[in-house]
Amino acid sequence: LAASMAGCGVVSNGDNQKKESAGAAKDGDKIVIGMSMDTLKEERWQKDRDIFTAKVQELGGEVKVLAANGDDATQLSQAEQLISQGVDVLVVIAHNAEATAPIVDKAHKEGIKVIAYDRLINNSEVDYYISFDNVRVGEFQAQAVIDKAPKGNIVYIGGADTDNNAHMFKEGAMNILKPLEEKGDIKIVYDQFSKDWKPEEALKNMENALTANNNDVQGVVAANDGTAGGSIQALTAQGMAGKIPVSGQDADLAAVQRIAEGTQLMTVYKPINAIATKAAEMAVAAAKGEAISTEKTVNNGKIDVPSVLLDPLAVNKDNLDVLIKDGFHKLEEVYKNVP
Ligand code: BGC
Repeated sequence: LAASMAGCGVVSNGDNQKKESAGAAKDGDKIVIGMSMDTLKEERWQKDRDIFTAKVQELGGEVKVLAANGDDATQLSQAEQLISQGVDVLVVIAHNAEATAPIVDKAHKEGIKVIAYDRLINNSEVDYYISFDNVRVGEFQAQAVIDKAPKGNIVYIGGADTDNNAHMFKEGAMNILKPLEEKGDIKIVYDQFSKDWKPEEALKNMENALTANNNDVQGVVAANDGTAGGSIQALTAQGMAGKIPVSGQDADLAAVQRIAEGTQLMTVYKPINAIATKAAEMAVAAAKGEAISTEKTVNNGKIDVPSVLLDPLAVNKDNLDVLIKDGFHKLEEVYKNVP
């Protein structure tokens, strides 16, 4: 009976059932992975969800997805919901690196392993972390801007203070910028996070940066394509769009179009297919109680988390075709606005 129920995708809420399925799905018992997402707002997250779900299905499991619209309390209660539904493994894309830590404890009490997806969960005993080399992402961004603007005033438009990645991107950017500032080549004239990665927050930040410096700005290191979009909007209002370099990240279609048009210098491409596929394999293996081999660890303030870190790639107008070859975007979409 249990097997046939599971075959219909029914997951028991019973306590015994939970403990039994936890961590090691029984023969014939369909594996169920819970996916607790911060948001589906940026273009990438929909791809993450779709590719992850398809891969788990291909491996014989199913995925229950809940997205929290950037709200910590919602993410916590949604994760609790997934835990009480008896998922075998929980995959978390944290809105808040600190506030999601209790989710790990709650899952562990039920014997459910937790994988931090793309964003680390700090100060917790999270089982695995899969992401890209996020410090490298920041280095790519700053290096590209500096190559175009080796001297002058540089603005840093960061991501969400609550997202551990935003700190890693900034760390990477500062690895490049600080030594140049010490040499006297550049000056970091503005440096702020943008609440919840919102483009409108980045727009406000960029307006403030321009005002404070009488528009005397030579380059903008923006942490992702959304914040780049907000920054470029502020530059457009001052007739400066396309005149100074702006970085980004994610290879969002709108950003890639801006690169083709010349208002954004570059983006960092993180192949979503690679992270979503690998994460799905890890989740299913963890559900089966199999060991997962990882080559790296990342410290989250409490433990060294076994980690898989994939390679990001800097993309500018000279190598945009990578995105097309990879099937990430279509040629006609990328060059839609280019005469
Ligand atoms: C991700 C970026 C994304 C940003 C905003 C970060 O944690 O790594 O790819 O642009 O969140 O959602």
